[in-house]
Parts: sequence; structure tokens; C-alpha cells
Amino acid sequence: MSDDCIFCSIVAGDIPARTVHETDDVLAFLDANPLARGHTLVIPKSHAQHVGDLDEDLASELFATVTELTPRVQAAVDADGANVGINDGEAAGQEVPHVHVHVIPRFEGDGGAPLHAVGGTRPDLSDDELDAVAEAIAG
Ligand code: 5GP
Ligand code: ZN
Repeated sequence: MSDDCIFCSIVAGDIPARTVHETDDVLAFLDANPLARGHTLVIPKSHAQHVGDLDEDLASELFATVTELTPRVQAAVDADGANVGINDGEAAGQEVPHVHVHVIPRFEGDGGAPLHAVGGTRPDLSDDELDAVAEAIAG
């Protein structure tokens, strides 16, 4: 638990939320400022800012919850699809420093954009540069 974290306060019950799913380790609730009807956030109950900070079991449970809830969220609001994503770090737009997965229902013709739209200017990478990046990630 982090003292000045909004989502830790929701987990503690100090700030109200519209909870849609809860286990010992994971909580899901409606976003207070939704991008679409049904916009849901899925969080680990324990405080961590980055996905890479989660241990394997918690990461597995978090993702299992996301896969279970996404079709339920879509069905509840009769959506045609959903964007599922995490803003990991301030540079990526993370405003609440407690890992949360956004499940954002999408509707035909809603005027929104695909996840491809979140990047900046596309880099023009040579094959050698792509090879080097792949190698660096693979370690
Ligand atoms: P981020 O930019 O960190 O990925 O997204 C944070 C999300 O949390 C935003 O979509 C915002 O609307 C939502 N949010 C911020 N404060 C609260 C709150 O107190 N309650 C709920 N339910 N959602 C919140
Ligand atoms: Zn927190």
C-alpha cells in the first residue's frame, strides 16, 4: 500500500468505486472518467507502478482476470470490440502510478482510434537496426 496512491485508497475502501470483480489479489472497477460506456480498470491490489514490478503469479492472475472480464464488459454494454492496454510510465501517459489495465469497449463508428495511434512519429529503421533491437530485447 502506498499512502498517496488513489488506487491503493480504492483497494482500502477509503475512496468509493464501482467494483465489478474482486479476488484476494485483483480488483476491477469502472473508470471514473470513462472513454466509453463500460470502461473498466483491472488492478493488482498490491502497489506497483510498472508491469515489470509484478511477480509472475500476480501478473498471471491479473491477465487471467483481464481475459475473463473483457468479453463480460463488452457484453454488458453491447460493444463491438475493445481496446485493452496499459500506460506503463509517465512517458506513456500513466497518470496513476499503480499498474492498471484499461478495458475500453469500442463501438462501430465511435470515432476512436486503434492502439497504433498511441505512438509518436514512426521510426524508419534499417534491417540492421531491427536486428540490433531484437538482440537487445532477447538478451
Ligand atoms: P492512466 O492515464 O494512469 O493510464 O489512467 C488513469 C485512469 O484512472 C484514468 O482513465 C482516470 O479516469 C482513472 N481514475 C483516476 N482517478 C480515479 C478514481 O478516483 N476512481 C476511478 N474509478 N478512476 C479513476
Ligand atoms: Zn497504489
